[in-house]
Amino acid sequence: MIIRREFYINGSWCSPSRPRDFEVINPSTEEPCAIISLGSQEDTNAAVAAAKAALPAWAATPPSERARIVSRILEQYEARLAEYASVIAMEMGAPIDFALSDQAPCLPWHTGNFLKAFDKIEWIRPLGPHARRVAVTLEPIGVVGLITPWNWPVNQIALKAIPAMLAGCCCVLKPSEEAPLNAMLFAEFCHDAGVPAGVFNLVNGDGEGVGTQLSTHPDVEMISFTGSTRAGKAITRAAADTLKRVALELGGKGANLVFADADEQAVARSVRRMMENCGQSCNAPSRMLVERSVYVQAIEKAVATAESIKVGPADEHGPHIGPLVNKRQWDQVQGYIQKGLEEGARLVCGGLGLPEGFNRGYFVKPTIFADVKPGMTIEREEIFGPVMAMIPFDTEDEAVRVANDTPYGLTNYVQTGDARRANRLALKLKAGMVEMNGKSRGAGSFFGGMKQSGRAREGGVWGIEEFLESKIVSDYDFSLEDA
Ligand code: NAD
Repeated sequence: MIIRREFYINGSWCSPSRPRDFEVINPSTEEPCAIISLGSQEDTNAAVAAAKAALPAWAATPPSERARIVSRILEQYEARLAEYASVIAMEMGAPIDFALSDQAPCLPWHTGNFLKAFDKIEWIRPLGPHARRVAVTLEPIGVVGLITPWNWPVNQIALKAIPAMLAGCCCVLKPSEEAPLNAMLFAEFCHDAGVPAGVFNLVNGDGEGVGTQLSTHPDVEMISFTGSTRAGKAITRAAADTLKRVALELGGKGANLVFADADEQAVARSVRRMMENCGQSCNAPSRMLVERSVYVQAIEKAVATAESIKVGPADEHGPHIGPLVNKRQWDQVQGYIQKGLEEGARLVCGGLGLPEGFNRGYFVKPTIFADVKPGMTIEREEIFGPVMAMIPFDTEDEAVRVANDTPYGLTNYVQTGDARRANRLALKLKAGMVEMNGKSRGAGSFFGGMKQSGRAREGGVWGIEEFLESKIVSDYDFSLEDA
């Protein structure tokens, strides 16, 4: 059992002002694996004060020096990769090989991309050729609160803390209370990399406590949040009185349009993508819309693929999916499966209850419903588990209408051999990201949505700009810059 009742504030680990224990549960075993403390207003205030005090010096540190310090975090990561992955596996249930190959490497991947983009930022530039004495300057927004979820914990910390520090901001991270240990390791990496005291601070806590305290704090200029649409709305309301910037990455209900001319692997690839991380990805392709002429074959392929996906505990090696993160999530997913049955969708794979051979752990059978109708609960709401809905369509227009008829707008997917159609759909689909034929967005791109999926842009140069303020200055003498 790991006991870590401590927060990282002003460059050192300190005790909570009013300890409040929280048990972190290993979702593979349902046993407690760690005890942390949830923070209080005093802890939040101390962390914000440390960030505020460190801000002038960090903001004035030359960008190249900030980049050098931030890049040293990667050396710490390399040395402690196995530990990092095993902590992720233990606290949120990602199978150990997946944690090593996909979850933990989000840190070097994003950091490398940010460092490349950061190099190209013009901190002071003329407005344009006709306004050579008008300057556009960029500066860090100030103290930022970073609130992250448990599902891709390292990914989200890297997407926020790295660009915030590069931009010259000082931050207070409140990671998910469900998966705090990887975040505490990240704080150790920052410390050992020589990030100056106060630039990065960490206070564990829940949403109602530290999350709200950061969102309302008058000295916090911005909240960067990833999590549920529900919490995103609460944060937006809490931040209203101080009018701080709020960058939101929220839920999704990705539509995946599969046309008759899609490649052979399209359905299997999509099902695997859906089930990855046990369906706990905001960009999961959870609605498969299939052209009617290939609908029956698509169901057969989807079922065969889902049935081939193994389920197993997070500490077991090999390719399989792990458990859901907690009991609340397990109950919720079971509730959605029940709702699908009640509303008349056709269960073709998986279903209610624990998978065969399990009597504990928050495991779920990879589940597929066919003949799902637009408007059914499992078609509209984010399930956040390994449950996919299959919906037939007759025309491209109908598919676009169904895909877009959701409050969400994060990621849509298209599987087609017709390049003209792909280009056409790219413009019609109302989502921040459209992925064609299984091709990844690649380095330097951003992650972000539209509508109630939130409108933040994380990654690449966009992800750094989120943490910058721009200023316009008239009669700026650029000749003095070169002198
Ligand atoms: P959650 O919203 O319950 O919690 C996320 C974080 O917000 C946690 O740190 C939590 O303590 C905090 N929080 C909760 N209520 C809060 C409040 N009122 N004020 C301030 N902070 C609060 O979400 P979760 O269950 O941890 O994560 C799953 C959700 O995250 C899903 O909806 C998923 O789609 C979404 N998500 C979105 C993205 C994206 O980039 N769009 C990425 C990953 C996950």
